Amino acid sequence: MTAFVVARNSYLLLMLLLAVADYFFLSLSPWVYLALTLLYILLVVAGSSVMSLNFFTRSYTRGRGNTIALTFDDGPSAEHTPAVLEVLDKWGATATFFCIGERMEQNKALVRKIKEKGHRIGNHSYTHSNLFSIFGKNMVVDEIEKTNRLIQELTGEECRLFRPPYGVLNPPIAKAAAACGMQVIGWNIRSFDTTTKDYQKVVERVLPRIGPGAVLLLHDDRENTPKIVDAILAHASRLNLRYIQAQELIHE
Ligand SMILES: [Zn+2]
Repeated sequence: MTAFVVARNSYLLLMLLLAVADYFFLSLSPWVYLALTLLYILLVVAGSSVMSLNFFTRSYTRGRGNTIALTFDDGPSAEHTPAVLEVLDKWGATATFFCIGERMEQNKALVRKIKEKGHRIGNHSYTHSNLFSIFGKNMVVDEIEKTNRLIQELTGEECRLFRPPYGVLNPPIAKAAAACGMQVIGWNIRSFDTTTKDYQKVVERVLPRIGPGAVLLLHDDRENTPKIVDAILAHASRLNLRYIQAQELIHE
């Protein structure tokens, strides 16, 4: 049973009990019902956007032991991904690239190169549509399957790693991921590398939070990413952390 089902059933039971009590002996203000409903809605919204709450489905957001997992979303980018690969090479680091299907279609050789370098390709949907969070289950299944077929074609690997666009998990997305046999991979350090052009700011924010079990969210379609990754890897090597890929985050 997911946390969502527990929350929904508790909410419905509480409303029912209050209504019965209200009818027989309590005299509650309508505001009590409204406040409880608002609280429930807030909980569902938080559960949709914070993957580590595991509200709608299990997601993996933390490594075990002295490890660090670097994950890159939204690529591959012909302009910026090659420089990211060079920095990873320089430090002998391995990483996971959660690629968008449409972008893989445009950069097939680059996807093969990522795989040849020993990194892992994950599924980050086919279109990364702005409307992804209101897609129905079947639409999400289509997105996942189309991208999985492409990954299989380009790397020969069956992909089971899924990162939902914008990190949003709601019932249709959770059900689609389960129907496709995907494991949902989250993060515990968000770099916010897409919100500022000042790479030093990103580095200053991220480095102090890095420690054993870190799972970083980065984007390989940005100009500053290679510089940010270089600083992160220098720090990780000082801390003696071992680089792992997303499939190594999956455990019971
Ligand atoms: Zn994304």
